[in-house]
Amino acid sequence: MTAPLVLAPPLIEGESLNGYVSRSAQLFGRTPRDFCTDLGMRWPYLCSGHDDQMERLAWLIGESPEKLSAHTAGKVGEGRFKLGQTVVTLGTMRRTAVRLCPQCVVTALTEIGPHGVFQLLEWAVTSLHTCGRYKCYLMTLPPAKHAHTNYDFVARVLDNIDAVQSACMSPETAQQTAFERYIRERIQRGPKNDWLKDLDLTQIHRLCLNLGAAIEGLKMKIMKTLGSQQERSLCQLGFKNVRAGPDGFKVALKRLHRQSTSNRPYFSADMGLFYQWLREYYEDPTLAPLVDLTCDHIFETYPIPTGKEVFDRVAPKQTLLNMHEARKRSGFGVMFLKGLLGHLDGVDLAEANLRTDVRVDELARAQAYVEGLINLEDAARMLGLSRSQIKALQSCGVLDMIKITSSLRYVLRNQAGKLLDKLNGLPTALPYRSVVPLREFCRSKQVTMVQIIDLWVQGELDGKLCRGEGVGLQAIEVE
Ligand SMILES: [Zn+2]
Repeated sequence: MTAPLVLAPPLIEGESLNGYVSRSAQLFGRTPRDFCTDLGMRWPYLCSGHDDQMERLAWLIGESPEKLSAHTAGKVGEGRFKLGQTVVTLGTMRRTAVRLCPQCVVTALTEIGPHGVFQLLEWAVTSLHTCGRYKCYLMTLPPAKHAHTNYDFVARVLDNIDAVQSACMSPETAQQTAFERYIRERIQRGPKNDWLKDLDLTQIHRLCLNLGAAIEGLKMKIMKTLGSQQERSLCQLGFKNVRAGPDGFKVALKRLHRQSTSNRPYFSADMGLFYQWLREYYEDPTLAPLVDLTCDHIFETYPIPTGKEVFDRVAPKQTLLNMHEARKRSGFGVMFLKGLLGHLDGVDLAEANLRTDVRVDELARAQAYVEGLINLEDAARMLGLSRSQIKALQSCGVLDMIKITSSLRYVLRNQAGKLLDKLNGLPTALPYRSVVPLREFCRSKQVTMVQIIDLWVQGELDGKLCRGEGVGLQAIEVE
């Protein structure tokens, strides 16, 4: 040990104030409690960051009280603490359990001695799993008998020196993730002017962790058994999606919807752990931008009935229906409706069958389209032909063949109507020429009625037909 006689060791950047007092007491061979009493302070009050205690210590070591307060996790509200330049809640801060970097501690102990063993404030934050300097994983000491004993950092280290030294001998290391860098910067320099600036450290941690877990499709049960490495990578995955701002976040929500394998996707299931977290905390005003974006996404992407509340946002006029609701509103079977929408969109049946919802305007368009369809029987009756003749007219292209699902064929009512209009446009007689009814003509010439109708529609028989008596196209007479 080569330490000089230093009455007040200098404060190290980012170290905790109780850790500083703990190692200063070591210098004088005193307990922190006695050390404080000797110098006219009260150790428990100092640990709690009381103003008068801080002022006295500041005076004793020649620092400003403001500088000292940056080294304490002072309470700023119920369960909320100022940590460095940011705010954290108990959800991601260990107040009493002692976490530390074995490499930093052993190096300081070896090079300086117990009074050099500093405790960094950031070690209390469970969002950070590794040391920023040595990249090794942090370790947590077994809890002390009395919670307050944990504030005497150096004593806790010395009590557990074997475990600390052995962790230091075989360190497991990991590169700092972008998420950890972001957390660390916020502790050291405060929030940047980004869209998450109003969230405290705990909310940032939970946002990233739960979004990452939702993208990975993890369930709550697994989260309770996550190791440090898994938790780090989930936080990083979530952070990757939110760091780019609201647009990146929206892309992540769309991805969760796309990943759904359900026939009836539902937002709470698709968003998984992220949704469960937001449902618990949505009333926190700092989360309002996230809640707004999430609700916008839900209302745009899922069939939510008009006026239904999601969190505390009210669904606007419903524009999207699930297949069940669309079936109820339209009376169409689900498979028929999927086929029909596919037909209108020009996609094949296999792709059409993957559909899980319908926009209200699409449904109206589909209904109007179906009103314009007639089946083969009705078309046959309308045109005075047989079903097989209607099919033949479809085969040669006089009438469009409409197939919605694989089994049934339909005819467009207005196409059949146009044939009747064309018939009505024929003269009632051809002056000075003899004509015979279509059926008779076909029999004598050994041609089909469909062939004649096809030629007529193509304009090949202009001037050779007129209109006589009969049902539908049977009224055609041929020269
Ligand atoms: Zn370290």
